[in-house]
Amino acid sequence: MAKFRLKSLLQKDSGNLEFNPNLVCHSWQELEKYTNDCHACELHKSRTQVVSGRYSQQMADLLIIGEGPGKNEDEEGLAFVGESGALLNIMLDSVGLDSTYITNVVRCRPPNNRTPTKAECRSCRGFLQSEIALVKPKAILSLGKVAAKTILDSSGKFEKLMRKRHQYFEYPVWVSYHPAYLLRQPQLSEHSPKWEVWQVLCQVKLYLDSLRLKNNDKIGYLARS
Ligand code: SF4
Repeated sequence: MAKFRLKSLLQKDSGNLEFNPNLVCHSWQELEKYTNDCHACELHKSRTQVVSGRYSQQMADLLIIGEGPGKNEDEEGLAFVGESGALLNIMLDSVGLDSTYITNVVRCRPPNNRTPTKAECRSCRGFLQSEIALVKPKAILSLGKVAAKTILDSSGKFEKLMRKRHQYFEYPVWVSYHPAYLLRQPQLSEHSPKWEVWQVLCQVKLYLDSLRLKNNDKIGYLARS
């Protein structure tokens, strides 16, 4: 990638959530190289290493976006490997969402697990867009307020965002609580946070299953004709 292009990738901020495929890394190798070398925001100072996406399939049906790496992720270099990741795995397994790529809005650990600033999220946005373009998911699940604010141009109340499907360019998006928040919410009753997330995951699963059925119908029709 030419030097000027990397600069554009990291610094361009039109104010809109602009998805410009000309500004993204065009291969996994480029993404790895430019994230590992990145010093575009203050977070590079506190990281042990840059944290990569964790996946069951690199080009997964569902791309999941969290906030930022914690201590375990910073040490292992992989997203969602701590307690939150374990809970996320249980939740995904419970509804049969098995084709997933899990990443974060920022790739370096914020000191003391503080919330990444708007500027830090903006600095890292080109890398997130690169991942979306490389994974080409069929759906996106955004976890927590920071991820929702980063990809949705909406200032609405978070709980309201959870009740509907959104769109990020060609990608349908669902919004859910972050598993770190759910770890502090033990209740499982109707309308509890965990129950709300269950509803969201079921909607995502239904959507992906309906796409699969449509594709199977098409393949069946082509085979018969
Ligand atoms: S958080 Fe993102 S933009 Fe900031 S230094 Fe790390 S990789 Fe670069």
